[in-house]
Amino acid sequence: MNDVSDTSNDLMMDFQSDDYFMQMALREARKAYEAKEVPVGAVVVRDGSVIARAWNQVETLRDATAHAEMLSLTSAQDAVGDWRLEGCTLYVTKEPCPMCAGAIVHCRPDRVVFGCPDEKAGAAGGWINLLESNPPLNHRCEISSGVLQDECLALLQSFFREARDKKKAERDLIRKQAAEGEA
Ligand SMILES: [Zn+2]
Repeated sequence: MNDVSDTSNDLMMDFQSDDYFMQMALREARKAYEAKEVPVGAVVVRDGSVIARAWNQVETLRDATAHAEMLSLTSAQDAVGDWRLEGCTLYVTKEPCPMCAGAIVHCRPDRVVFGCPDEKAGAAGGWINLLESNPPLNHRCEISSGVLQDECLALLQSFFREARDKKKAERDLIRKQAAEGEA
């Protein structure tokens, strides 16, 4: 459900708790930031409590599949004792990629709530929409997007800005050393 214009009164309460749980996902994302990982965090919530939390650990684990969503889904399945995550909501700071969206649909949580959209590579409506339209997988997740979007986006932007600045500083140093070598 991307359309936020048809909010009813009781969504007000939902929205507040979405904010709360997204704050927890953001806390995970900040752990990723500190570990020099692309700062994405996720939590899985059931019956109003967090049953799993994870941050992106691709570099730490040297595992390209170690996205926050994948790790939190595995951990949630452990907590529930079942691969079916019915009745669960996944909160993630960035729109899930196609790999994670595929995994999400297999685990069947009721809802996916994300912070900032990813128009280039997102698979919850940004680039494609695997969560709501996946005839072979036969599960539909309700989607809420844009929860604490600015905070989620700012964290990513600051991470990539820092990475660019670092790369530029390295290039400048190499150039300087080369110039000194020629002189
Ligand atoms: Zn992913």
